[in-house]
Amino acid sequence: MAEQESLEFGKADFVLMDTVSMPEFMANLRLRFEKGRIYTFIGEVVVSVNPYKLLNIYGRDTIEQYKGRELYERPPHLFAIADAAYKAMKRRSKDTCIVISGESGAGKTEASKYIMQYIAAITNPSQRAEVERVKNMLLKSNCVLEAFGNAKTNRNDNSSRFGKYMDINFDFKGDPIGGHINNYLLEKSRVIVQQPGERSFHSFYQLLQGGSDQILRSLHLQKSLSSYNYIRVGAQLKSSINDAAEFKVVAEAMKVIGFKPEEIQTVYKILAAILHLGNLKFVVDGDTPLIDNGKVVSIIAELLSTKTDMVEKALLYRTVATGRDIIDKQHTEQEASYGRDAFAKAIYERLFCWIVTRINDIIEVKNYDTTVHGKNTVIGVLDIYGFEIFDNNSFEQFCINYCNEKLQQLFIQLVLKQEQEEYQREGIPWKHIDYFNNQIIVDLVEQQHKGIIAILDDACMNVGKVTDEMFLEALNSKLGKHGHFSSRKLCASDKILEFDRDFRIRHYAGDVVYSVVGFIDKNKDTLFQDFKRLMYNSSNPVLKNMWPEGKLSITEVTKRPLTAATLFKNSMIALVDNLASKEPYYVRCIKPNDKKSPQIFDDERCRHQVEYLGLLENVRVRRAGFAFRQTYEKFLHRYKMISEFTWPNHDLPSDKEAVKKLVEHCGFQDDVAYGKTKIFIRTPRTLFTLEELRAQMLVRIVLFLQKVWRGTLARMRYKRTKAALTIIRYYRRYKVKSYIHEVARRFHGVKSMKDYGKHVKWPTPPKVLRRFEEALQAIFNRWRASQLIKSMPASDLPQVRAKVAAMEMLKGQRADLGLQRAWEGNYLASKPDTPQTSGTFVPVANELKRKDKYMNILFSCHVRKVNRFSKVEDRAIFVTDRHLYKMDPTKQYKVMKTIPLYNNHLDGIHLRGRKIDMFSYQWPQKVHDPHRFVK
Ligand code: ADP
Ligand code: MG
Repeated sequence: MAEQESLEFGKADFVLMDTVSMPEFMANLRLRFEKGRIYTFIGEVVVSVNPYKLLNIYGRDTIEQYKGRELYERPPHLFAIADAAYKAMKRRSKDTCIVISGESGAGKTEASKYIMQYIAAITNPSQRAEVERVKNMLLKSNCVLEAFGNAKTNRNDNSSRFGKYMDINFDFKGDPIGGHINNYLLEKSRVIVQQPGERSFHSFYQLLQGGSDQILRSLHLQKSLSSYNYIRVGAQLKSSINDAAEFKVVAEAMKVIGFKPEEIQTVYKILAAILHLGNLKFVVDGDTPLIDNGKVVSIIAELLSTKTDMVEKALLYRTVATGRDIIDKQHTEQEASYGRDAFAKAIYERLFCWIVTRINDIIEVKNYDTTVHGKNTVIGVLDIYGFEIFDNNSFEQFCINYCNEKLQQLFIQLVLKQEQEEYQREGIPWKHIDYFNNQIIVDLVEQQHKGIIAILDDACMNVGKVTDEMFLEALNSKLGKHGHFSSRKLCASDKILEFDRDFRIRHYAGDVVYSVVGFIDKNKDTLFQDFKRLMYNSSNPVLKNMWPEGKLSITEVTKRPLTAATLFKNSMIALVDNLASKEPYYVRCIKPNDKKSPQIFDDERCRHQVEYLGLLENVRVRRAGFAFRQTYEKFLHRYKMISEFTWPNHDLPSDKEAVKKLVEHCGFQDDVAYGKTKIFIRTPRTLFTLEELRAQMLVRIVLFLQKVWRGTLARMRYKRTKAALTIIRYYRRYKVKSYIHEVARRFHGVKSMKDYGKHVKWPTPPKVLRRFEEALQAIFNRWRASQLIKSMPASDLPQVRAKVAAMEMLKGQRADLGLQRAWEGNYLASKPDTPQTSGTFVPVANELKRKDKYMNILFSCHVRKVNRFSKVEDRAIFVTDRHLYKMDPTKQYKVMKTIPLYNNHLDGIHLRGRKIDMFSYQWPQKVHDPHRFVK
């Protein structure tokens, strides 16, 4: 499969070439380019050839193929390297960086964007909103930075005119939580002048083409690009760029990132002010320069929120302090123009740096506490301006190319030099592989006192008039013997070089002829103080913020600022130090042709790039070398579980011996070399197998640990439960005891109390004793009832019995059982019950006693009779031991009916179908509710 693939599309890794030779390398590179396979590995380095056409290889499905895979498992791709960097970061908590290099237009910026997209796509599986927000900003920041920092050049329609290094911070889970952007030297001279065929920064065209009429009107701008001197040159250029559409995208991105409306407004105002500045003309009246178009000045003043006369003064005069005096020195026309241009460049540069700072403010990691969240790791992505050679190369190209020398040096250091040195140090048999070390060129540029930058700074420091020619003269005298430096004076026959203007550096990537014109000015980077004060005093707070040093008063002596070249050099040294401290991953971009064509593979151009990028040497070192190395101790620590000789601990005399044993156990002895302190593994496959074996063992170890731990947990839980049960048992006993004690205490001596302890409050029982309490209360109540009954006179007992019997019968039938009063029986004779009628009834009753000879009156009362027609009549009932009488109370208790009770006609009273003999009533056996007795 791989074989077939390699026949058709070429070798996926240059390391697999039959022979390491330039023709074979180029043939493979070409074949792959033509087959649309733009990526090829050299071990862990990705070589990329700009396809100059959209390829369908960056979609979601491709991302899925690379996610979590090992490098060589899938065809070469940017995603493979991005995943490797991500894995190293996540698995080993390593800070990593991806360095993308190649000449201008080779595809660095595109590569960096695909890498960022990949990282964004594979992180945050749980879709945390905060992480999504950060990712969105990191992605969106790109388009804003490109609008302000990129421009169309002859090499690339979207050429980065600044260097960008972006750190993405990850939390311990591997999700991005923030970032930081470092920007390097913006090519600001582009603001005022461009070479033929080039444009200024995209932002200007975007504003003019995409800004609404209303925005343009408020900025006093017109749509026509050619109305503005600063951008007129490139106005007519044709390109694929759609400025109007980009304007909206960028405006939207700024909004999403969190730029406030007034900030976005200020950005537009600054762009407009620069365009207007470019149209300012100076005329000379005698020897006083004047501004020709005063209207423009007031527009600029309005846009910058300052006063017209102050703008005018800053443009025409310079305030100088001589001793104690402060005088306004008038500019010459030339000085005034220089000042205007310097001002335009400076405000654009400030604007750009301010945008970066604002983005950083927003994306920076906030509230991260390593003690809580774990280690925060970083992946850095470096996309910097590529090596470039133009028809006219100036200070900017000098800086850019120096930067590329530094990065090449870093590559050499990390990939070629260190590697070989390590084999030697470790005593691994090694045949040194030659490569061109560009350190000599780096030194030519940056060496203290002797390098080009030092000489340039010296020239700038000179008092009096210094010219670019004088600088070239100094170069000639100091660097005349340097192998990588030449000029016309040093080599008179070299007609390409112009006398007193050009010098040539033999860069690692090729010869570049620089024109010294402008070097001194650009290096000094002078901006009259008056402009800084002007901006600081602007009433627009955003603008004022960009110019803090305008606060200084005229008489305050400022230290001589570092020159542009020195600042750049320092930032490059810091950058390289930063990259070197991380685990690097490389993308080496190659530009297939100079025509931006997807068809042409320009052999000559490509071979040149392969040469200077040192790719062949890279392959050689890689082939001879080892993919992986690790100290014996760390190696053991990671893989000791694979072999029984080393797990859990080995008993061999040294870690090295133990590693040997482990490797032999796995059968990898032919793919490794043993150094003094490290083991070297040749192929990634071996390493991968080790990782797999480890992963398999880890599952078992984890299961084992889980088993032991679960057992421990269960035992601990069991012990705790038992202890808890004991505690509960004792506690219950204690609660019961104290309840019983309390009851005993409270009810002590109730027998001698008047109410036999009715008033005594029962203590609240513990839950378990609820039923016990009920029973206890029942016993107590029975006892109290019996006490009460015992104390009653015997004569009352029948009556009590009767009451109880009635109550038993009528329970639930009547609202009031009349238990509160004594039984009278003969209620019609009772004065309190029937005050009006007792007088009438008593004689009737006596009369009946005489007549019917009864002994006892059992009962008498008023009743109400209801007949079946619902007719109601009052009656009286009178019961004796012999008769039952029905009487009419309205007719002096005249007897209406007499029923004898002695002839078995009615022996007892029937209630609810039961015969009741009230006077022989027995106490119920079981007392359900003893209260009934005593209430
Ligand atoms: P550099 O940053 O190296 O100067 P860019 O990344 O800006 O170069 O690429 C220049 C142009 O090449 C892009 O605008 C794009 O048209 C094309 N290009 C680069 N890489 C790719 C790619 N992977 N797929 C398609 N086009 C690409
Ligand atoms: Mg770029």
